[in-house]
Amino acid sequence: MTFASLGLIEPLLRALETLGYQNPTPVQAQAIPAVLAGRDLMAAAQTGTGKTAGFAVPLLQLLTMEGPKVAANSARALILCPTRELAEQVHASVAEYAQHLPLTTYAVYGGVSINPQMMKLRKGVDILVATPGRLIDLFRQNALKLNQLQTLVLDEADRMLDLGFSEELANIYRMLPKKRQTLLFSATFSDDIRLLAGQILNDPLSIEVSPRNVAANTVKQWVVPVDKKRKPELFVHLMRKGRWKQVLVFAKTRNGVDALVDKLQGLGVNADGIHGDKPQATRQRALDRFKSSDVQILVATDVAARGLDIEDLPLVVNFDLPIVAEDYIHRIGRTGRAGNTGEAISLVCADEVNMLSAIEMLTRQTLTRKTEPDFEPEHRVPETDASGQVVKKPKKPKKPKASGGGGKRNLGKWVDSGDAAPSEPSIKPVRKVPVFNTGPRKKK
Ligand code: AMP
Repeated sequence: MTFASLGLIEPLLRALETLGYQNPTPVQAQAIPAVLAGRDLMAAAQTGTGKTAGFAVPLLQLLTMEGPKVAANSARALILCPTRELAEQVHASVAEYAQHLPLTTYAVYGGVSINPQMMKLRKGVDILVATPGRLIDLFRQNALKLNQLQTLVLDEADRMLDLGFSEELANIYRMLPKKRQTLLFSATFSDDIRLLAGQILNDPLSIEVSPRNVAANTVKQWVVPVDKKRKPELFVHLMRKGRWKQVLVFAKTRNGVDALVDKLQGLGVNADGIHGDKPQATRQRALDRFKSSDVQILVATDVAARGLDIEDLPLVVNFDLPIVAEDYIHRIGRTGRAGNTGEAISLVCADEVNMLSAIEMLTRQTLTRKTEPDFEPEHRVPETDASGQVVKKPKKPKKPKASGGGGKRNLGKWVDSGDAAPSEPSIKPVRKVPVFNTGPRKKK
């Protein structure tokens, strides 16, 4: 199949050719005709499948062929993204696809001054890419009207809900014209997303180009069990042993990012970190330097996990497992993109066994464990499998104190299934739900 056979106009075909896109990816082959036909869409696609062009290219065609010229302080299409980085990236792609078209594009997000954004919007823009909070600010300050809006795109919709944007989204829907085209894209589809889809989509076409919640099969994944306090040491050991050149590392907290970056920089390693406490310009600079290989190791919180497109990234390391199991798929989706192979290594301590179990259940696979010599954990990580079961040894009966008091030593410790006495009912599913809901995360 060719892009021309999908009915795309010449300026778009030329742009795609310049970018080296020879054939549509599966999500593009399905989404492009549907969007051109004016349908609402509910699309689930693996990360790195080309979904941005799947919605942006036909959208650009519709805006070129139909509708009035954009009015002052207006937008004709709105693409909502969960993070500033993703908004920048989606906008960069849209601008590339639009390079031969007489359309204007712009991205707005928080963390930077609002005034230049208000100035830019005065003339109106055909396609506006936005994060929800800043969009609402601009609307409330009368810098943006949405009555001309033809199309709404929700990109990474599940991530928006994870980040606690559901109230902002509800406010935004109220600002939009009732008659519009709505395209919902999400790498993974939770029940909440399906509920949302039911509320905002009109007779949508469902596109699912890959099995639900399955990580890219071009990524080789494994787990290294280790004690929590030895993770930094193990990381440095693996880095030296594997001669890692470009690695994206995920840590759970902002402090965790800073601590690892400090340690690596202290060892003379070219490392930098990005997280929500850092100003937007600093984050973007670190990301750009990582993309251009000026920074060897980029340590990030999940703010960087979604959608960031770094060409040929060979390795992702989960220094900590994500609290939300679906984030695992997004994190490792930064490697093994567009058919390349990649590796994803997770350093897992005993505390994280339930998260590991949730990830295995969600991705329907038991991750291979490779214990690193000299780093065997004292606190063993219990066996898990894709059924969502964690095998826990039952508590031993307390020995009477008089016998020496040593009986408490193993109480509450996780152990391997093989250690359990056969007659004991020791195998208990302790967690069946794949997502660990810690409540909505606060935006910056
Ligand atoms: P996305 O999933 O939209 O983030 O795209 C992932 C990567 O695939 C980006 O680097 C795109 O530029 C690239 N890409 C998207 N569509 C195609 C295509 N049809 N052929 C080759 N590369 C593509």
